[in-house]
Amino acid sequence: PDNMKTWTTWVPPVGLFCFLLLLLVLAPGTQHWSQSQAFANMPYILLAVAILLGAAFSQSRITYIGILLLSVVFAANRAFSQGIQQRGAAVVLLAAIYVPMLTAIFRHLHEAGIFTSKGFGRALLVVSSAFMIVILPELEFFRLGTSTSKLFLIDSTHSLLQIPGLGLAAFCIVVPVLMLKREHDNQRLGPAMAFTLLFVFAGLNFRSNMWPSNQAHTVFLCFSSGAALVLIWYMLENSWHEAYTDELTELPTRRSMKQHFSRLDQTYTIAVLDIDHFKAINDKYGHATGDQVLRFIAAHLRDDEPGKAYRYGGEEFVIVAERCSLDEAIVELDGLRQRIADRKFMLRSRSRPRRKPKTPTPSTSELHEAITVTVSIGIAECSDTHPTPTEVLAAADKALYRAKEEGRNCIRAAR
Ligand code: GH3
Ligand code: MG
Ligand code: MG
Repeated sequence: PDNMKTWTTWVPPVGLFCFLLLLLVLAPGTQHWSQSQAFANMPYILLAVAILLGAAFSQSRITYIGILLLSVVFAANRAFSQGIQQRGAAVVLLAAIYVPMLTAIFRHLHEAGIFTSKGFGRALLVVSSAFMIVILPELEFFRLGTSTSKLFLIDSTHSLLQIPGLGLAAFCIVVPVLMLKREHDNQRLGPAMAFTLLFVFAGLNFRSNMWPSNQAHTVFLCFSSGAALVLIWYMLENSWHEAYTDELTELPTRRSMKQHFSRLDQTYTIAVLDIDHFKAINDKYGHATGDQVLRFIAAHLRDDEPGKAYRYGGEEFVIVAERCSLDEAIVELDGLRQRIADRKFMLRSRSRPRRKPKTPTPSTSELHEAITVTVSIGIAECSDTHPTPTEVLAAADKALYRAKEEGRNCIRAAR
């Protein structure tokens, strides 16, 4: 599942977007869809699901975006039923500015729960914005004439792109910002938010003449449902990813390894790698350093040579090599073992001064303490004596014990 993790983020939203585009432009009769009550309520239902999932899965930022979009759908539906001309333009203007701005703010903030003091402040921001989106288009002064709208950059930019310039600018600034990688936060959240904005903007572009006639309401309903689906998909995919990926080392977990086992057939080798005297490292330098050492080892395993690496548990890793003979795997893994032993793990010395000294210290070795980390490896191949992955793993584990007994920092194969 781990090699699917990139495409599962991108392909479903892009696929859905292209599908909706083709459907709305090419399929006949779609303009009648909006007359169906069930279809008109679809965005509400899907957004309610997204809001509830966000609350249940501690994804408050998704819940807030869901609430905001709910107000946009409500305001737009009102405009569609009561005079789309001016009221609709006001809804589009407000949504095109509020939605990207708040999305950018939520991307910047860290998860803080919903029923917390921070969460309360954020909820207030969202609810007041939602209120504005619903109330302002009702006010007489907000139904702007064309002269004022030109002046404030809120006129439509093009017959194909019926979004106010101001909203378009917000969209163009916010989307690249959302795509930037953020440390210590979910890497999938930014793209999910960017895709949500894309759907929202396609929906708000209902007045564009790229759509066949009388289709405006259907276009809006389809793309706002799509925006809700993107939020729902993000939460499902994120839960799936978290279940199969180890948080510390970012390697796939044992659960993921079990799935790989079920796909194996014929020729494969399985190796178990265990860090030598890891408990001593923990005891001497502390648990946090131990964690860093685990990440250091995991970094050596990430390039999938000679096979896929998993964090089996604690300080043990499993490597599953397919289409590779036992001898080839031994050579590769012994090289890996050697590289780990040669590359010292650099520890920031505790005696390192907190401020930069006035006179530079001559050598960095005084600032850093180098720890040599070694690993032992046991390896076994699928054969008549151990025909299933579980048995091969058990044989590799036995071989690992021999490697430990015979002095560590070495590799042993099952006999
Ligand atoms: P050997 O060479 O025989 O493998 O000795 P060892 O000390 O590596 O083996 P042992 O099984 O006695 O110790 C494993 C240690 O790994 C114990 C546990 O505290 C530590 N450990 C397990 N998981 C983690 C983790 O996620 N982070 C840290 N820092 N330590 C962990
Ligand atoms: Mg161990
Ligand atoms: Mg160990």
